[in-house]
Amino acid sequence: ASFEDRLLTRWVEGEASRADQLFGMDGKNFDIIARTYLSDIRSEPVPGTTEVTYHVPLVDYLELCPKITGRYWRLVNRPVKAGWVRMDPDVGESSRQRTARLLKERVRTSLTADCASRIAKMDDAFASLFADPVDRILGLLSESVQAEMPMSAAVREDWPPCFESAVAELSQGINVNHTGRVFLAAMSRAMGHTPEVTISFFANAPDYSADTTTYQVNHIYERKYTPHGCAALKTGARCPVSFGDDRLCDQEWMTHPLKYLRAKQRRRYQEENQAEIQADESTAGTSQNRPIDVAESNELDDSS
Ligand code: SF4
Repeated sequence: ASFEDRLLTRWVEGEASRADQLFGMDGKNFDIIARTYLSDIRSEPVPGTTEVTYHVPLVDYLELCPKITGRYWRLVNRPVKAGWVRMDPDVGESSRQRTARLLKERVRTSLTADCASRIAKMDDAFASLFADPVDRILGLLSESVQAEMPMSAAVREDWPPCFESAVAELSQGINVNHTGRVFLAAMSRAMGHTPEVTISFFANAPDYSADTTTYQVNHIYERKYTPHGCAALKTGARCPVSFGDDRLCDQEWMTHPLKYLRAKQRRRYQEENQAEIQADESTAGTSQNRPIDVAESNELDDSS
């Protein structure tokens, strides 16, 4: 994705998250709002309380739940009856708040499609009217992305594209699938990052929960998970390169992202060594040609 795409994704994520929060609080209008985003909705009062439990059509749920990570959202963990999925309260959220999380995915899709259609209608002259503010916002985003990931550029240059894309997507609020998340944590551990650094990679995930992420990352560190190989990442739709995109990834022996990392580190080490040798040689050459000044000449005389 281009930087502009990432900016759009971030803006959409912010708006969709705000909608999620506001919808979850609006008990009075929630049914009406929900019907604008879902094909239908049903509610049943919880006996002895003022709460209600919502049910959403299976067809909507099947479309939206793959976009949300977590045990709750797997269909096997949801009660389903006659084509309706029951949205029980969970992790401190009411049934309405859980349903609002589903609506967030529809809001996200709708905003993205709306923006794409408006952008498509803009001609260059119209777009140029927004060039200055857009450049300014892109600059701010670029600064914030660098601040979020305080990695040295040299180290980051060595990252395999699959790891880089998982980190970048999460930092832009794009959902990364289960394979991508487990790979990211296991690979980060293998690369020597502390659990805190690994946890920070997830901080902008759409469904981020500090407690859940800390628990899952610590589990991967304790069990010393081996990162997925290239074949598994390709099967899990987490290898972002096509043939010709990256020469290292095109090699026949490239079967694991750790091989990529080591090859990059070896190459960088060799280049740095070569540069040092050349610098030493040129210094030696300079000093051979340099005339010895009087002070230096005296020091040499004294020590002899
Ligand atoms: S080929 Fe392997 S190392 Fe390269 S991006 Fe794909 S999964 Fe990662």
